[in-house]
Amino acid sequence: MFPRTAFTVTVNPKIPPRLKRLEELANNLWYSWDRATRTLFSRLDPVLWEAVGHNPKAFLKRVDESVLLKATEDRIFMASYNSILSTYDSYHDAPSALNGSKSLGPQDQVAYFCFEFGFHESLPIYSGGLGILAGDHCKAASDLHLPFVAIGLLYRQGYFFQTIDRLGNQQVTYTVSDFGDLPVTPVMHPDGSSMQIEVPLPGRPVIAKVWQVRIGHVMLYLLDTDLPENSPQDRNITHNLYGGDKAMRIEQEIMLGMGGVRALHALGIEPTVWHINEGHAAFMILERIHNLVQQGLDFASALESVAVNTVFTTHTAVPAGHDHFPAEMMQTYFDSFYRDLHISYEEFMALGHIPGSPDFNMTALAIHGSRTHNGVSKIHGGVSADICRDLWPQIEPEENPISYITNGVHVPTFLAQEWADLFDRYLGYEWRNKMCDDDYWSRIDAIPDHLFWSVRQSLKSQMFYGIRSRIAEQNARNRGSEAHLDRLLKFVDPINPSVLTIGFARRFATYKRAALLFENLDWLRRIVLDQERPVLLIFAGKAHPADVPGQDLIRRISQIANFPEFEGRLLLIEGYDLRLARRLVAGVDVWLNNPIYPLEASGTSGMKAGINGAINLSVLDGWWGEGYDGKNGWAIKPGPEDMEGVVRDKEESRALYEILQDQVVPLFYNYGKLGYSSNWVKMAKHSMKSLLPRYNATRMVDEYVSKFYRSASKKGASYAADDFSGARNIAAWKAKIRQAWPGVSLRRLDAPVERIYFDETLDFKVAVKLNNLAPGDVIVELLICRQFKTTRLGNFQHFQLECTGMQDSGEHLFELKLTPELCGKQEYFIRVYPYHSLLTHPLEMGLMVWL
Ligand SMILES: *Cc1c(COP(=O)(O)O)cnc(C)c1O
Repeated sequence: MFPRTAFTVTVNPKIPPRLKRLEELANNLWYSWDRATRTLFSRLDPVLWEAVGHNPKAFLKRVDESVLLKATEDRIFMASYNSILSTYDSYHDAPSALNGSKSLGPQDQVAYFCFEFGFHESLPIYSGGLGILAGDHCKAASDLHLPFVAIGLLYRQGYFFQTIDRLGNQQVTYTVSDFGDLPVTPVMHPDGSSMQIEVPLPGRPVIAKVWQVRIGHVMLYLLDTDLPENSPQDRNITHNLYGGDKAMRIEQEIMLGMGGVRALHALGIEPTVWHINEGHAAFMILERIHNLVQQGLDFASALESVAVNTVFTTHTAVPAGHDHFPAEMMQTYFDSFYRDLHISYEEFMALGHIPGSPDFNMTALAIHGSRTHNGVSKIHGGVSADICRDLWPQIEPEENPISYITNGVHVPTFLAQEWADLFDRYLGYEWRNKMCDDDYWSRIDAIPDHLFWSVRQSLKSQMFYGIRSRIAEQNARNRGSEAHLDRLLKFVDPINPSVLTIGFARRFATYKRAALLFENLDWLRRIVLDQERPVLLIFAGKAHPADVPGQDLIRRISQIANFPEFEGRLLLIEGYDLRLARRLVAGVDVWLNNPIYPLEASGTSGMKAGINGAINLSVLDGWWGEGYDGKNGWAIKPGPEDMEGVVRDKEESRALYEILQDQVVPLFYNYGKLGYSSNWVKMAKHSMKSLLPRYNATRMVDEYVSKFYRSASKKGASYAADDFSGARNIAAWKAKIRQAWPGVSLRRLDAPVERIYFDETLDFKVAVKLNNLAPGDVIVELLICRQFKTTRLGNFQHFQLECTGMQDSGEHLFELKLTPELCGKQEYFIRVYPYHSLLTHPLEMGLMVWL
């Protein structure tokens, strides 16, 4: 080639006035759950639509002017454009029919912080379940018209795109986003300059630009440090999600937590509830304390004031999964900061302290700096309470303040269009407002079986089309022949999608045991190679680039897929993302999940499958522990927690094969004259109607509002009123209690009675040494329960003892007269703990003395 200069010029179309509002549609993530909007764009130019990765904004910058002009002449196109705009306007104007917004006051504002957000493949700032859950939380907040904003980081490279080579090695490519193509816009000041905030890092300030993303009614603000004002290193802070070393991570987390608070301040937003979704964002607590200390409040009162309206949700079931930073690093980054708070280094480090580790733990900070904490399923609530038990050293984990709200998925995003259409016909248009109404969803029974089945088949067929093109692309890149491709796709027949199809797709984290199904290949062969009743297995998922065992799993599955007898029966599809997820959860017959109990905090992909009529086959862990009702799918009962890994895999894979062989395959292929199994349809319907009204994001966000947000907001206001007198009182009271507590003790005065008759009364007398505390500072309590083999504290009835005076010894006398209501042997305990009416949780101090 001759030496020459390539000049470029980009030509953007001029959007015709009649289509002007396409730009509005492209800049509102509403399109991520409104399929009609996405279809509208794709109809303009399907090839370009694919080429820009389903991104309306990038599409509008590249579509030919002639296409747009032609569309304005196309009456059918214009009709759907106008109909979409009218739906769009009524969504954005209408007051909500749901209760969510009503339970928060007009001045309320929830700020929701998360490290990643997954709304749609066109905004690649998510990696997996956590981000998508956060996206669904925002979408449901919009549906509920909540006063709600979200805060995150705008990653230039997002998460990686995955390909898998012929040997099964995961290949990682990062694409650099042009922010002009993303559905984000800079926040502008009235003078036309873009909003920036500044966050101090050691020795230099780092500037971040504030971007906004519209998600229906709510706004997401994203911070971006890739600015010429910053050094090259600092420009990299918001480059990739979960990339880089510990220093990069702490800088990202400082940016999100502290920068996020600064951005809200710059925006003039004053949240009344602060929600930390996973520990990454917990530094926001420090920034808020800092602000209050600068206003003149002491550290302890500032901490109380901040914590009382902060909600913390943990999503991790392994202690090692919680972020933590070495003490020296904390010293480097927070040296001047804690001095500003007028506290010692030790007091500062205590905020992130977990016994047994010198590191600063973000979960510990999040818990110390919040008064409402939860896990994301019933099982995970218990696991989290146990992991964090040392933060309330004198409290049994069962009673400590960690509760749970089970995750849910955003139904409009993940429900296939065919279902929405069928619901319109058989349930009525109002199904969208009946999301949590169990009775309403029993109407699914009114859908004729053959129509239900034909939707299932049609979704499977669409999935097969998608899989065919992906596998073809994969095969071509890996230099497979055409003949080989035919082999791979022999069961993937969109015209006759009759093969029983089992899907497994999620991050390839080792605890999810993607290879459990391959424990006993002979047994698996017997199941899937049946000539009459074939089985197709579809796998997809990414492993974190630093997760070597996760990548080994991909290689293992790829190798098995290449065994001649498994060719075409086991497909490993690359590039798992939201788009592929939507296809798979709707298209497969069975959704498989087999994590190591109890490590799956919740899991959400099974919910997405369930609402689309796929049937779950899953270990009773995470959400399935409560979702499974005996008839809506299949359950693998996990072995005991202390079971050795190898044994567990053997036992649980055996259960998996047995269920597949004895139940799943026979039920699916029990075709009658109808050409489908009516018992299968019965189970799928039952699964759909039992799961949809319960595992949706509206129910989830409604629960956050009614259980957490409302009370956090009220308590926050009461702590802050009168120049923070509530916060000051509680801080002073806690200091007094902490000081006196080691001297508090209990002594029983009455002689324990061993046997009484029904209707007789027991008279308990306890002397309590309060060590200068007042009787009103404590609760003395008797817990009683009929004795079972294993008695959980939750089964006990509680009775309070009343203070009746003081002994000469200086002890206070507490008494209770109790007439047991039940006969039989009863077990009881007596205990004392500090109590104040301003506390959020009665046991939040973590102090208790038992008799
Ligand atoms: C729902 C979803 C997940 C989470 O799936 P789990 O089974 O809960 O791990 C991960 N990635 C994508 C793309 C999803 O849509």
